[in-house]
Amino acid sequence: MAIYTLPELPYDYAALEPVISPEIIELHHDKHHAAYVKGANDTLEQLAEAREKDAWGAVNGLEKNLAFHLSGHILHSIYWHNMDSPKDGGGGEPLAADGVGDLADAIAESFGSFARFKAQLTKAAATTQGSGWGVLAYEPVSGRLIVEQVYDHQGNVGQGSVPILVFDAWEHAFYLQYKNQKVDFIEAMWQVVNWQDVSRRYADAQGRTPLIGG
Ligand code: MN
Repeated sequence: MAIYTLPELPYDYAALEPVISPEIIELHHDKHHAAYVKGANDTLEQLAEAREKDAWGAVNGLEKNLAFHLSGHILHSIYWHNMDSPKDGGGGEPLAADGVGDLADAIAESFGSFARFKAQLTKAAATTQGSGWGVLAYEPVSGRLIVEQVYDHQGNVGQGSVPILVFDAWEHAFYLQYKNQKVDFIEAMWQVVNWQDVSRRYADAQGRTPLIGG
């Protein structure tokens, strides 16, 4: 039985227009995300077979595939919920008046101001080399928020940090609509951020036990 399953989108394919076209959302969710789910499940099966046969010739590749597909599944699952139609309150910035004051305060404390945070995440996402993500993450040892520039789905991240807002900067996320203008796509992404969702993820992440003692 499959361990991981493709989650349904929380909106229809056209919900994020004009920032992201329905064609991109459909392909991105139904084909790309689905492939990571299948890849994670297939790799776990292959690892079970390796254990059964005590055959470890492919272990390096299998462990790499597990990290790639599982991280792809997790980041995309967060990505869909991080966005909402501008008509339904997506975009803007987190404000205490909207019930997301704790998140707004944490961003100001960790980055100096919302504007500086926005500049850093925009730059981190827009300057990915090859395929990657810009990520706002809660770092449980310091209790601060950090921005990470993720390679593929799994590289260049600190152990234990919890992603709460993710910008997919892979070409499949924008190329059909924005062609080679990755910066334009990342800048437009701010119009569909669902701050309520980011705020819930921040609150949840804070409940996690710090990873190191002492
Ligand atoms: Mn993607």
